[in-house]
Amino acid sequence: MVRVMCSVSNCHYWDQGNVCQASQIMVTADSLADPAPDSLDAPQASTIQATPVENCMETCCKTYVSRNSQDIYRDQITRR
Ligand code: SF4
Repeated sequence: MVRVMCSVSNCHYWDQGNVCQASQIMVTADSLADPAPDSLDAPQASTIQATPVENCMETCCKTYVSRNSQDIYRDQITRR
């Protein structure tokens, strides 16, 4: 399994050592993520269009959810 390193420490899936503990994540273009509902995440990734970008500044982690948020269970992602 790929180890995802991440420094976004207020994310529900973040853990000590800057390790992501999400069961899966979805990285996508900001242009797709911005208008998309919280429920769109890695489980649906294979069904959406490809979203090329020019540089890393145009991408984001769609799986991010704030710690203690009411939205933690909207995307079928679990914490390992
Ligand atoms: S879900 Fe995304 S933002 Fe959250 S810890 Fe994992 S990689 Fe970072």
